[in-house]
Amino acid sequence: MKILRIDMGAQGGPKTGDEPLGGYEGLGGRALTSAIVSKEVPPLCHPLGEDNKLVIAPGLLSGTSAAMSGRVSVGCKSPLTGGIKEANSGGQPSQMLAMLGYAAIVLEGKPKDNALYKIFINKDGVKITPDNSLKLLGNYDLVAKMKQEYGDKVSCISIGPAGEMKMSAASVAFTDMEQRPTRHAGRGGVGAVMGAKGVKVIVVDNTGMGRRNPKNAHKFSEANKIFVDGLKKHPVTGEGLPAYGTNVLTNVINEAGAYPTKNFMWGRFPPCGKISGETQAETEKARGGLATHGCHTGCVIRCSGIYNDKNGQYLTKQPEYETVWALGGNCEIDDLDAIAMMDRLCDDYGLDTIEMGATIGVAMEGGLAKFGDAAASINLLKEVGKGTPLGRILGNGAAVTGKVLGVERVPVVKGQALPAYDPRAIQGIGVTYATTPMGADHTAGYAVTANIMKVGGYVDPLKPEGQVELSRNLQIATAAVDATGMCLFIAFAVLDQPETFQALIDLLNSFYGLNLTGDDVTALGKSILKSERDFNGRAGFTAQHDRLPDFFKKELLPPHNLTFQVKDQDLDTLFNW
Ligand code: SF4
Repeated sequence: MKILRIDMGAQGGPKTGDEPLGGYEGLGGRALTSAIVSKEVPPLCHPLGEDNKLVIAPGLLSGTSAAMSGRVSVGCKSPLTGGIKEANSGGQPSQMLAMLGYAAIVLEGKPKDNALYKIFINKDGVKITPDNSLKLLGNYDLVAKMKQEYGDKVSCISIGPAGEMKMSAASVAFTDMEQRPTRHAGRGGVGAVMGAKGVKVIVVDNTGMGRRNPKNAHKFSEANKIFVDGLKKHPVTGEGLPAYGTNVLTNVINEAGAYPTKNFMWGRFPPCGKISGETQAETEKARGGLATHGCHTGCVIRCSGIYNDKNGQYLTKQPEYETVWALGGNCEIDDLDAIAMMDRLCDDYGLDTIEMGATIGVAMEGGLAKFGDAAASINLLKEVGKGTPLGRILGNGAAVTGKVLGVERVPVVKGQALPAYDPRAIQGIGVTYATTPMGADHTAGYAVTANIMKVGGYVDPLKPEGQVELSRNLQIATAAVDATGMCLFIAFAVLDQPETFQALIDLLNSFYGLNLTGDDVTALGKSILKSERDFNGRAGFTAQHDRLPDFFKKELLPPHNLTFQVKDQDLDTLFNW
């Protein structure tokens, strides 16, 4: 495995070079992106400047026949938070890049000209071409064009207009198995950094390359079988997620009184049944879509789906729970078709749906539109796609929008919007939001498991006791999983079933010829977090940045009528291990 470095600012035009992993040997996914960013990016640099780097890294097991191993990590200094960022995504490029032998692509420098570039990678090497005909294309049109040019076997890593306009809510899109740009490294404005590098699209063609071979093929295939069996027998990964997708959570979180409604005003959204996973799955099936679908080759959980419009025509992939919440209940919108349309627009413009939903919620609180007005929300998103002055404000996220509109209740940590779980009714996730180096991010330590789903134990969601320890353990485990290229949803089975956890370790050991133990995996997670915290410290972050906005500590959230109870001094112990 090697690193592909592309200097977009080289004299005479972009230059490429392969180099061995060297000091980064043994790292993949988030471990690799965070190591490179932490070591090579000056923490005080401008995120859109030539000194920032965009690192795209498949996981340690990507490109192998291990189930669920197709996640890809994208890392950089974030334009949204000003700190280190790792955002990850499904889709096909991870497996394909790994099969081509790339542990990472590193985009460096900044073009001297105003050209927009496309990069084509196959077994014969890398070709970089300026192509200004791609300017301001939406991801869907862009990918259709790449398909015409390079055929229907390639995958694409791309940005939409939001990335080109360097908006802080811009995502990097990854195509799925049907060559649609539906999977996104959404958080933290990674798309803006790709835009600043002048790269519109990376087309990946792995024709002629096979899967990566394990050191011990027999043990690897045995471990994979136990791993898959474990995923299939667990109720969340074997039943709930395949049947209803992540949106199965709408009813669950609403019932728990933790569904942030009307810009985090209430913990329940009475009409939530209209946008629940159950309704969504029924709608998809009735219109000839799919309620169960994988986002990349090798996924056996298949939590995704295909959402068709009223005429049975493809509209978007099945919107995730967090998307349905952000653009739905958070804005008091209970129209599934409108939410699906906004999901499509976000994918096309290349925008983080969580950031945009939270932003529209703040804009509604600031008087730009009425809560519940789906048509107004769609129009606000279109402003972003067009890049009007208002759109540029909204496309830079909830914090900027709140400031411009004079809104006090802005749900962000380190400048990044809170996702779909109110920290007053799920206190463990509040600890993760406050302390993760990423800015508010549910995936960084998904305490909803033990707080609500009773997976991996139980910690009372309404009390502060035990939440720091829960979040700490989950943040460590998550960082390690994010290094493997495995979809994080394996965590449900891995946390509950020791033999599934062991099978994951056996997959790594048999592939690389190692003897890792559970302790080594923990050590890997800790070292990733340490390098990320270290970067943020050098970028100027202090304990004061590890806090939720004041209103979570002052406003009672119905129906439990609680504030966030975990004390600041306890938050400050999270990284003491
Ligand atoms: S479980 Fe869902 S998110 Fe994970 S790889 Fe499969 S389809 Fe993608």
